[in-house]
Amino acid sequence: MPMCPVCQDSRMVERRRTLRQRFRYARIHECPACEGRRVQAHTDVHPLLSLTARCPKCSTQELRVRKRLDPYDPVYRNPISLMQRYLGARLMYCVDCRLQFYDLRPRRKIRRG
Ligand SMILES: [Zn+2]
Ligand SMILES: [Zn+2]
Repeated sequence: MPMCPVCQDSRMVERRRTLRQRFRYARIHECPACEGRRVQAHTDVHPLLSLTARCPKCSTQELRVRKRLDPYDPVYRNPISLMQRYLGARLMYCVDCRLQFYDLRPRRKIRRG
């Protein structure tokens, strides 16, 4: 169960979304104690729906590009990822899970400073 970001209550209940919220959020949980809300974007739940490259495992956007596969790091063996390789996708690398995968989508520009 998700925890309330405000009071850490773990009895959050899933709320019905309005039509407009359905486009934006995959899930909305509300805390019965303080009415705090926790929203999840579709791209957090389904990383493949994102328009920018994301790690298929942890859905972070902080990715590195690699020139070649590292034999010691795991490779994401999803057919969609492997197919993108033949379409000229770049080899991405997730710093957190050390996962290597192919993704045609552009990387999100990570602002520095
Ligand atoms: Zn709360
Ligand atoms: Zn990852």
